Amino acid sequence: MLRPLLDLLLPVECGGCGVPGPLLCTDCEVLLGAPVRVYPLCYEAGPPVYALGSYRGRLRAALLAYKERGRRDLAGPLGGALASALLQLRLGPGSGGVGIPPGSGGVWLVPVPSRWSAAARRGGQHVELLAQRAAAALAGGGVVAAVAPALRVSSGVRDSVGLAAAARQANLAGRVLPRRAGLPPAGTPVVLVDDVVTTGATAAACTAVLLRMGVEVPAIVVLAAAGCHAPSSPSEGPYQPQR
Ligand SMILES: [Zn+2]
Repeated sequence: MLRPLLDLLLPVECGGCGVPGPLLCTDCEVLLGAPVRVYPLCYEAGPPVYALGSYRGRLRAALLAYKERGRRDLAGPLGGALASALLQLRLGPGSGGVGIPPGSGGVWLVPVPSRWSAAARRGGQHVELLAQRAAAALAGGGVVAAVAPALRVSSGVRDSVGLAAAARQANLAGRVLPRRAGLPPAGTPVVLVDDVVTTGATAAACTAVLLRMGVEVPAIVVLAAAGCHAPSSPSEGPYQPQR
């Protein structure tokens, strides 16, 4: 009952294009499509990385609005898109059920952590909130899902924005740490989730920590990919389409 009233008092505009109306208009929502495997430049070995769209244009604007400009209301539609992708990865042909292993009883999502100072400035861990909304959307659809905040970033890591690939790796080396209290039950595979993948250095660092803790990571799913290269052989699958 409150929502229409709130909309009158505080008109909502699309996080991607600014058009008054829903949080994410139909034209911007379709920029988050089916998950496609991508190949980040600094990510040579590890679980497959899937992205729902390209980090540019209106999708980039929406993700920046969510992360940096206080549009935390976008967590709902963005988390919903992530949930759809996880379902598609389970059902998609040739996927091997990476998203939600059949018979596993559900999916555990591990959010890529931000530095605490960045999270404090932004109003919380934005990827964790995204994961929570995705888990809620999955639960609403009858799929058991939970968030495992199993990672943290130690102080001393600079914001990676503007850093070259090699500098990003050096920046992160040894700085991603486990949070044992946030681990899922032993033997449970997890899906690592993030908003954007660029070089893949963050994904690689996070995956390495989880593996060292004995946690299997069948897949990494992100909302958007930036600057990923084409697969080196056609058998590796499709490159991120330009949406
Ligand atoms: Zn829009």
